Amino acid sequence: MSAHNFSAGPCVLPREVLAEAAEAVRAWHPAGLSLLEISHRDPLFVEVMEEARSLVLELLGLDATEYTSLFLQGGASSQFFAVAYNFLDSRAAYVNTGTWSSKAIKEAEHFGEIIVAGSSESTGFDRIPNPLETLSDVDYFHLTTNNTIYGTQWTAFPKPQTPLVADMSSDLLSRVISPWPFDFIYAGAQKNLGPAGATLVVLRNAMLDRICREVPSMLDYRRLSEKESMYNTPPVFAVYVCLLNLRWLKSIGGVEAVEQMNREKASLMYSEIDRNSLFHGVARETDRSAMNATFRLKDSQLQNKFDELWKEGGIYGLKGHRSVGGYRASMYNALNIESVKTLVDIMKHFENQYG
Ligand code: PMP
Repeated sequence: MSAHNFSAGPCVLPREVLAEAAEAVRAWHPAGLSLLEISHRDPLFVEVMEEARSLVLELLGLDATEYTSLFLQGGASSQFFAVAYNFLDSRAAYVNTGTWSSKAIKEAEHFGEIIVAGSSESTGFDRIPNPLETLSDVDYFHLTTNNTIYGTQWTAFPKPQTPLVADMSSDLLSRVISPWPFDFIYAGAQKNLGPAGATLVVLRNAMLDRICREVPSMLDYRRLSEKESMYNTPPVFAVYVCLLNLRWLKSIGGVEAVEQMNREKASLMYSEIDRNSLFHGVARETDRSAMNATFRLKDSQLQNKFDELWKEGGIYGLKGHRSVGGYRASMYNALNIESVKTLVDIMKHFENQYG
């Protein structure tokens, strides 16, 4: 029996995905070899890469003639500078909604001027600000769709006059986004996509014409696209587990079905946070994330008692990010609603004891 895993990432993965991944480590190739010991140029691995790349587009509802997906390395953090290296010629607009947006801004500043087109810093990043969409003389407009640490999430996206770029690390494939407003997105895999070690990029092909300078090959999206995500040795195991996870998502009904489940989980969780007299939510109600629910104890003296209770109750990973404290229930795609029910029962029990 495994713990109820509310970890913010790396995070819960479907048990069947883990079982199949474990088997592939033992023996996968017809030659009796592990997935980890064969060439990434082996036709069977090339098929894995192709299927993973096309399944991402299929699940996102994107046309493969218009968009390209790439499995890269270096995490979302490397995309902070890779995006700017490729596309930031003079000025770019960024919305600052928390730690990850701030880091993206800092890295992009190496390449040009950054205009902050909205920020919720003055209210402790508790909300999604109204962005300035009308800037026309910028190379692109960047936002973070879900703020993993603060527990806020965009619902309606800006329609800038320039390409829209998004860090989707923590809500990729968790909800239907249609029509797709983004020209370029990236995400570290270790939430809804798979294990750490792979990084996804999905770009509108027309973006390749906007690359504004000579870029080293490993960061050059044109080169990476031409080489079909195989310019160098890809993270074979991580990509394979992403594929298994994408197949799992398709098998349960795709993004539409998982969105419904994610909504139910979030609604259950936030109802309890609002109802329970010992807790309060952190993010502004209208901007609450369905992926990461952040909340606090009204009386911090009770912290040790609550921590003991949820740990005893088989909950894992409920602590808020070390920079903000409090609690964070991350409810990614593979988290079962039973886990949320268990946590809610623990919170109720805690209120009965100390409320
Ligand atoms: N952006 C967001 C929204 C994140 O949640 C994270 C990591 N949790 C990152 C970027 C950084 O990702 P990585 O560790 O893959 O560099």
